[in-house]
Amino acid sequence: MIDELEKYGKVYENFALENYNTYGIKTSSKYFVQPNSIDNLLKLLKYLSKNKIKYYILGGGSNIILPDKPFSGVLINLSLLNKIEINNNLVSAESGVALGALAKKCIEKGLSGLEYVSLIPGTLGGALYGNAGLKERTVYDNVVGIDVIRKHKLVHIDKKDLKYEYRWSMFKDSSDIIVKAYFEMDSAEISDMNDIVKQNRIRRMDTQPLEFKNAGSVFKNPAMDSAGRLIDIAGLKGYRINDAEVSQKHANFIINRGNATSDDIKKLIKHIQKVIKDKYNIELELEQVIVDWD
Ligand SMILES: Cc1cc2nc3c(=O)[nH]c(=O)nc-3n(C[C@H](O)[C@H](O)[C@H](O)COP(=O)(O)OP(=O)(O)OC[C@H]3O[C@@H](n4cnc5c(N)ncnc54)[C@H](O)[C@@H]3O)c2cc1C
Repeated sequence: MIDELEKYGKVYENFALENYNTYGIKTSSKYFVQPNSIDNLLKLLKYLSKNKIKYYILGGGSNIILPDKPFSGVLINLSLLNKIEINNNLVSAESGVALGALAKKCIEKGLSGLEYVSLIPGTLGGALYGNAGLKERTVYDNVVGIDVIRKHKLVHIDKKDLKYEYRWSMFKDSSDIIVKAYFEMDSAEISDMNDIVKQNRIRRMDTQPLEFKNAGSVFKNPAMDSAGRLIDIAGLKGYRINDAEVSQKHANFIINRGNATSDDIKKLIKHIQKVIKDKYNIELELEQVIVDWD
Protein backbone atom coordinates (compact mmCIF):
# COMPACT_ATOMS: atom_id res chain seq x y z
CA MET A 1 0.00 0.00 0.00
CA ILE A 2 2.77 2.44 0.87
CA ASP A 3 4.22 2.14 -2.68
CA GLU A 4 0.86 3.12 -4.12
CA LEU A 5 0.42 6.06 -1.71
CA GLU A 6 3.90 7.34 -2.53
CA LYS A 7 2.76 8.01 -6.10
CA TYR A 8 0.69 10.92 -4.79
CA GLY A 9 3.02 12.71 -2.40
CA LYS A 10 4.87 12.32 0.89
CA VAL A 11 3.85 9.32 3.00
CA TYR A 12 4.52 8.44 6.63
CA GLU A 13 3.50 5.26 8.43
CA ASN A 14 2.32 5.00 12.07
CA PHE A 15 2.48 8.75 12.31
CA ALA A 16 2.27 10.55 15.69
CA LEU A 17 -0.25 13.41 15.59
CA GLU A 18 0.55 15.24 18.84
CA ASN A 19 2.12 18.12 16.90
CA TYR A 20 -0.59 18.13 14.23
CA ASN A 21 -3.47 19.13 16.48
CA THR A 22 -3.24 22.24 18.63
CA TYR A 23 -4.79 20.50 21.67
CA GLY A 24 -1.75 18.22 21.54
CA ILE A 25 -3.83 15.04 21.81
CA LYS A 26 -1.45 12.08 21.67
CA THR A 27 -2.95 9.97 18.96
CA SER A 28 -1.67 8.58 15.64
CA SER A 29 -2.56 7.53 12.15
CA LYS A 30 -1.64 4.36 10.27
CA TYR A 31 -0.86 6.45 7.17
CA PHE A 32 -0.25 10.19 6.89
CA VAL A 33 -0.17 11.45 3.31
CA GLN A 34 0.66 14.91 2.00
CA PRO A 35 -0.45 15.08 -1.65
CA ASN A 36 1.90 17.23 -3.74
CA SER A 37 -0.65 18.55 -6.25
CA ILE A 38 -4.41 18.91 -6.61
CA ASP A 39 -4.26 16.39 -9.43
CA ASN A 40 -2.52 13.86 -7.19
CA LEU A 41 -5.06 14.50 -4.40
CA LEU A 42 -7.77 13.67 -6.90
CA LYS A 43 -5.97 10.45 -7.92
CA LEU A 44 -5.37 9.52 -4.27
CA LEU A 45 -9.07 9.94 -3.46
CA LYS A 46 -10.01 7.73 -6.42
CA TYR A 47 -7.58 5.05 -5.24
CA LEU A 48 -8.89 5.18 -1.66
CA SER A 49 -12.49 5.04 -2.78
CA LYS A 50 -11.85 2.13 -5.18
CA ASN A 51 -10.18 0.18 -2.37
CA LYS A 52 -12.69 1.24 0.30
CA ILE A 53 -9.99 2.79 2.47
CA LYS A 54 -11.09 5.35 5.06
CA TYR A 55 -9.59 8.83 5.03
CA TYR A 56 -9.83 12.09 6.94
CA ILE A 57 -8.82 15.60 5.83
CA LEU A 58 -6.59 17.49 8.24
CA GLY A 59 -5.80 21.18 7.93
CA GLY A 60 -3.78 22.84 10.67
CA GLY A 61 -5.59 20.81 13.36
CA SER A 62 -6.52 24.02 15.22
CA ASN A 63 -10.27 23.48 15.45
CA ILE A 64 -10.58 19.74 16.05
CA ILE A 65 -10.74 17.23 18.88
CA LEU A 66 -9.08 14.09 17.55
CA PRO A 67 -9.99 10.71 19.08
CA ASP A 68 -7.57 9.00 21.47
CA LYS A 69 -7.90 5.86 19.38
CA PRO A 70 -5.35 5.63 16.52
CA PHE A 71 -6.74 6.02 13.01
CA SER A 72 -6.45 2.87 10.93
CA GLY A 73 -6.96 4.74 7.63
CA VAL A 74 -5.22 7.51 5.70
CA LEU A 75 -4.96 10.98 7.16
CA ILE A 76 -4.66 13.45 4.30
CA ASN A 77 -2.78 16.60 5.19
CA LEU A 78 -2.93 19.36 2.57
CA SER A 79 0.04 21.45 3.66
CA LEU A 80 1.93 20.84 0.38
CA LEU A 81 -0.98 22.42 -1.53
CA ASN A 82 0.24 25.91 -0.72
CA LYS A 83 0.58 27.83 -4.00
CA ILE A 84 -0.47 31.48 -4.06
CA GLU A 85 -0.96 33.53 -7.24
CA ILE A 86 -1.48 37.27 -7.29
CA ASN A 87 -2.55 39.25 -10.36
CA ASN A 88 -3.32 42.88 -9.55
CA ASN A 89 -6.15 42.60 -6.99
CA LEU A 90 -7.03 39.00 -7.87
CA VAL A 91 -5.59 36.38 -5.56
CA SER A 92 -5.89 32.61 -5.75
CA ALA A 93 -4.54 30.23 -3.16
CA GLU A 94 -4.49 26.49 -2.62
CA SER A 95 -6.29 25.36 0.50
CA GLY A 96 -3.29 23.99 2.41
CA VAL A 97 -1.64 27.40 2.68
CA ALA A 98 -1.48 28.81 6.21
CA LEU A 99 -4.06 31.59 6.51
CA GLY A 100 -1.46 33.83 8.18
CA ALA A 101 1.04 33.33 5.35
CA LEU A 102 -1.59 34.19 2.74
CA ALA A 103 -2.68 37.31 4.66
CA LYS A 104 0.94 38.43 5.05
CA LYS A 105 1.58 38.11 1.33
CA CYS A 106 -1.54 40.15 0.54
CA ILE A 107 -0.66 42.86 3.06
CA GLU A 108 2.85 43.18 1.55
CA LYS A 109 1.20 43.88 -1.83
CA GLY A 110 -1.20 46.47 -0.36
CA LEU A 111 -4.15 44.08 -0.78
CA SER A 112 -6.80 44.27 1.90
CA GLY A 113 -9.35 41.64 2.96
CA LEU A 114 -7.50 39.11 5.10
CA GLU A 115 -5.69 41.34 7.63
CA TYR A 116 -8.39 40.85 10.30
CA VAL A 117 -8.19 37.06 10.09
CA SER A 118 -4.41 36.90 9.69
CA LEU A 119 -3.75 35.67 13.24
CA ILE A 120 -6.21 32.78 13.12
CA PRO A 121 -4.12 29.59 13.17
CA GLY A 122 -4.61 26.86 10.58
CA THR A 123 -5.04 26.61 6.85
CA LEU A 124 -7.16 28.45 4.32
CA GLY A 125 -9.19 25.23 3.74
CA GLY A 126 -9.97 24.82 7.44
CA ALA A 127 -10.94 28.49 7.69
CA LEU A 128 -13.34 28.25 4.74
CA TYR A 129 -14.81 25.03 6.14
CA GLY A 130 -15.74 26.68 9.46
CA ASN A 131 -16.11 30.30 8.23
CA ALA A 132 -13.38 31.43 10.59
CA GLY A 133 -13.36 35.04 11.59
CA LEU A 134 -13.85 37.62 14.25
CA LYS A 135 -16.61 40.09 14.98
CA GLU A 136 -15.49 42.56 12.31
CA ARG A 137 -14.70 40.25 9.39
CA THR A 138 -14.55 36.65 8.22
CA VAL A 139 -12.38 34.75 5.76
CA TYR A 140 -15.25 34.84 3.21
CA ASP A 141 -15.45 38.64 2.92
CA ASN A 142 -13.44 38.87 -0.33
CA VAL A 143 -13.96 35.34 -1.67
CA VAL A 144 -15.33 35.21 -5.24
CA GLY A 145 -15.14 31.46 -5.84
CA ILE A 146 -13.93 28.13 -4.50
CA ASP A 147 -12.72 24.95 -6.22
CA VAL A 148 -13.62 21.68 -4.53
CA ILE A 149 -13.23 18.01 -5.21
CA ARG A 150 -16.74 16.58 -5.27
CA LYS A 151 -17.36 12.94 -6.09
CA HIS A 152 -13.90 12.63 -7.71
CA LYS A 153 -14.36 15.69 -9.90
CA LEU A 154 -12.99 19.19 -9.70
CA VAL A 155 -15.94 21.59 -9.37
CA HIS A 156 -15.90 25.39 -9.30
CA ILE A 157 -18.40 27.08 -6.98
CA ASP A 158 -19.16 30.69 -7.79
CA LYS A 159 -19.63 33.33 -5.07
CA LYS A 160 -23.41 33.43 -5.61
CA ASP A 161 -23.70 29.72 -4.81
CA LEU A 162 -21.57 29.78 -1.66
CA LYS A 163 -23.49 29.52 1.60
CA TYR A 164 -22.06 30.46 4.95
CA GLU A 165 -23.08 32.08 8.21
CA TYR A 166 -21.63 32.57 11.68
CA ARG A 167 -19.02 29.77 12.10
CA TRP A 168 -20.78 27.58 9.52
CA SER A 169 -20.34 26.92 5.81
CA MET A 170 -22.08 24.60 3.36
CA PHE A 171 -18.94 22.43 3.47
CA LYS A 172 -19.83 21.32 7.00
CA ASP A 173 -22.83 19.50 5.49
CA SER A 174 -20.99 17.91 2.55
CA SER A 175 -18.02 15.73 1.78
CA ASP A 176 -16.51 18.31 -0.60
CA ILE A 177 -12.80 18.86 -0.22
CA ILE A 178 -11.81 22.50 -0.66
CA VAL A 179 -8.71 22.76 -2.85
CA LYS A 180 -8.48 26.39 -3.95
CA ALA A 181 -10.08 29.76 -3.31
CA TYR A 182 -10.25 32.96 -5.34
CA PHE A 183 -10.35 36.44 -3.83
CA GLU A 184 -11.03 39.89 -5.20
CA MET A 185 -9.11 42.10 -2.80
CA ASP A 186 -9.52 45.77 -1.91
CA SER A 187 -6.60 48.12 -1.61
CA ALA A 188 -5.37 49.75 1.58
CA GLU A 189 -2.27 51.32 3.07
CA ILE A 190 0.20 48.64 4.18
CA SER A 191 0.85 50.51 7.45
CA ASP A 192 -2.89 50.63 8.28
CA MET A 193 -3.21 46.88 7.72
CA ASN A 194 -0.11 46.21 9.81
CA ASP A 195 -1.67 48.30 12.59
CA ILE A 196 -4.81 46.14 12.49
CA VAL A 197 -2.67 42.99 12.81
CA LYS A 198 -0.71 44.54 15.66
CA GLN A 199 -3.85 45.54 17.59
CA ASN A 200 -5.28 42.05 17.09
CA ARG A 201 -2.06 40.47 18.32
CA ILE A 202 -2.14 42.57 21.52
CA ARG A 203 -5.83 41.75 22.11
CA ARG A 204 -5.22 38.01 21.59
CA MET A 205 -2.22 37.95 23.90
CA ASP A 206 -4.25 39.79 26.56
CA THR A 207 -7.37 37.63 26.34
CA GLN A 208 -6.36 34.15 25.14
CA PRO A 209 -4.44 31.45 27.05
CA LEU A 210 -1.79 31.16 24.34
CA GLU A 211 0.76 29.73 26.78
CA PHE A 212 -1.22 26.45 26.82
CA LYS A 213 -2.30 24.05 24.09
CA ASN A 214 -5.88 24.76 23.04
CA ALA A 215 -8.06 24.83 19.92
CA GLY A 216 -9.60 28.29 20.15
CA SER A 217 -13.18 28.95 21.20
CA VAL A 218 -14.93 25.77 22.25
CA PHE A 219 -18.54 26.93 21.80
CA LYS A 220 -20.32 29.28 19.43
CA ASN A 221 -21.72 32.38 21.05
CA PRO A 222 -25.46 32.01 21.65
CA ALA A 223 -27.65 34.77 20.12
CA MET A 224 -27.08 38.10 21.90
CA ASP A 225 -24.73 36.58 24.46
CA SER A 226 -21.23 35.23 24.85
CA ALA A 227 -20.38 31.63 25.68
CA GLY A 228 -17.35 32.81 27.67
CA ARG A 229 -19.50 35.14 29.83
CA LEU A 230 -21.99 32.35 30.63
CA ILE A 231 -19.27 29.83 31.52
CA ASP A 232 -17.55 32.46 33.66
CA ILE A 233 -20.66 33.47 35.67
CA ALA A 234 -21.51 29.79 36.11
CA GLY A 235 -18.28 29.58 38.12
CA LEU A 236 -16.59 27.12 35.80
CA LYS A 237 -13.27 28.90 35.24
CA GLY A 238 -10.54 26.56 36.44
CA TYR A 239 -12.89 23.52 36.48
CA ARG A 240 -10.79 20.54 35.50
CA ILE A 241 -11.08 16.94 34.36
CA ASN A 242 -7.57 15.50 34.66
CA ASP A 243 -5.41 17.77 32.49
CA ALA A 244 -8.29 19.38 30.58
CA GLU A 245 -9.22 22.69 32.21
CA VAL A 246 -11.55 25.62 31.60
CA SER A 247 -9.09 28.47 31.11
CA GLN A 248 -8.89 31.06 33.91
CA LYS A 249 -8.03 33.66 31.27
CA HIS A 250 -10.90 33.02 28.82
CA ALA A 251 -13.76 30.77 29.91
CA ASN A 252 -14.60 29.71 26.33
CA PHE A 253 -11.17 28.07 25.97
CA ILE A 254 -10.26 24.61 27.23
CA ILE A 255 -6.55 24.24 27.85
CA ASN A 256 -4.42 21.12 27.94
CA ARG A 257 -2.25 21.27 31.04
CA GLY A 258 0.03 18.53 29.67
CA ASN A 259 -1.55 15.13 29.27
CA ALA A 260 -5.22 15.82 28.51
CA THR A 261 -6.83 13.10 26.45
CA SER A 262 -9.59 13.47 23.92
CA ASP A 263 -11.87 11.80 26.46
CA ASP A 264 -11.01 14.36 29.17
CA ILE A 265 -11.79 17.24 26.81
CA LYS A 266 -15.08 15.71 25.64
CA LYS A 267 -16.19 14.97 29.24
CA LEU A 268 -15.40 18.57 30.20
CA ILE A 269 -17.41 19.85 27.23
CA LYS A 270 -20.42 17.74 28.30
CA HIS A 271 -20.12 19.01 31.87
CA ILE A 272 -20.03 22.66 30.74
CA GLN A 273 -23.05 22.12 28.46
CA LYS A 274 -25.02 20.49 31.29
CA VAL A 275 -24.24 23.24 33.82
CA ILE A 276 -25.19 26.01 31.36
CA LYS A 277 -28.39 24.19 30.38
CA ASP A 278 -29.37 23.59 34.02
CA LYS A 279 -28.55 27.13 35.18
CA TYR A 280 -29.64 29.26 32.21
CA ASN A 281 -31.64 26.92 29.95
CA ILE A 282 -29.22 27.65 27.08
CA GLU A 283 -27.80 24.92 24.84
CA LEU A 284 -24.18 25.71 24.05
CA GLU A 285 -23.35 24.57 20.51
CA LEU A 286 -19.84 23.34 19.74
CA GLU A 287 -17.65 25.44 17.46
CA GLN A 288 -14.87 22.83 17.51
CA VAL A 289 -15.19 19.63 15.48
CA ILE A 290 -15.25 16.31 17.31
CA VAL A 291 -13.59 13.80 15.00
CA ASP A 292 -14.73 10.21 15.13
CA TRP A 293 -12.80 8.11 12.70
CA ASP A 294 -13.74 4.49 13.19
C1 LIG B 1 -5.25 30.10 19.70
C2 LIG B 1 -6.37 29.93 18.71
C3 LIG B 1 -7.12 31.03 18.32
C4 LIG B 1 -8.17 30.89 17.41
N1 LIG B 1 -8.87 31.99 17.04
C5 LIG B 1 -9.90 31.88 16.17
C6 LIG B 1 -10.66 33.03 15.75
O1 LIG B 1 -10.37 34.16 16.14
N2 LIG B 1 -11.70 32.84 14.91
C7 LIG B 1 -12.03 31.60 14.44
O2 LIG B 1 -13.00 31.50 13.67
N3 LIG B 1 -11.33 30.50 14.79
C8 LIG B 1 -10.28 30.60 15.64
N4 LIG B 1 -9.57 29.49 16.02
C9 LIG B 1 -9.98 28.16 15.52
C10 LIG B 1 -9.22 27.67 14.25
O3 LIG B 1 -7.95 28.26 14.18
C11 LIG B 1 -9.99 27.99 12.98
O4 LIG B 1 -11.25 27.39 13.02
C12 LIG B 1 -9.21 27.51 11.74
O5 LIG B 1 -9.76 28.14 10.61
C13 LIG B 1 -9.22 25.99 11.54
O6 LIG B 1 -8.38 25.69 10.44
P1 LIG B 1 -7.50 24.35 10.40
O7 LIG B 1 -6.79 24.33 9.10
O8 LIG B 1 -6.68 24.24 11.60
O9 LIG B 1 -8.65 23.27 10.39
P2 LIG B 1 -8.64 21.81 11.10
O10 LIG B 1 -8.76 22.00 12.56
O11 LIG B 1 -7.51 21.00 10.60
O12 LIG B 1 -9.98 21.21 10.51
C14 LIG B 1 -11.24 21.71 10.89
C15 LIG B 1 -12.29 20.99 10.02
O13 LIG B 1 -12.14 21.43 8.68
C16 LIG B 1 -12.01 20.31 7.81
N5 LIG B 1 -11.12 20.71 6.73
C17 LIG B 1 -9.87 21.22 6.84
N6 LIG B 1 -9.37 21.51 5.63
C18 LIG B 1 -10.34 21.17 4.73
C19 LIG B 1 -10.42 21.23 3.31
N7 LIG B 1 -9.42 21.70 2.56
N8 LIG B 1 -11.57 20.81 2.73
C20 LIG B 1 -12.59 20.34 3.48
N9 LIG B 1 -12.57 20.25 4.82
C21 LIG B 1 -11.45 20.66 5.44
C22 LIG B 1 -11.42 19.21 8.69
O14 LIG B 1 -11.70 17.91 8.16
C23 LIG B 1 -12.12 19.47 10.00
O15 LIG B 1 -13.41 18.89 10.00
C24 LIG B 1 -8.48 29.61 16.90
C25 LIG B 1 -7.72 28.50 17.28
C26 LIG B 1 -6.67 28.65 18.17
C27 LIG B 1 -5.84 27.46 18.56
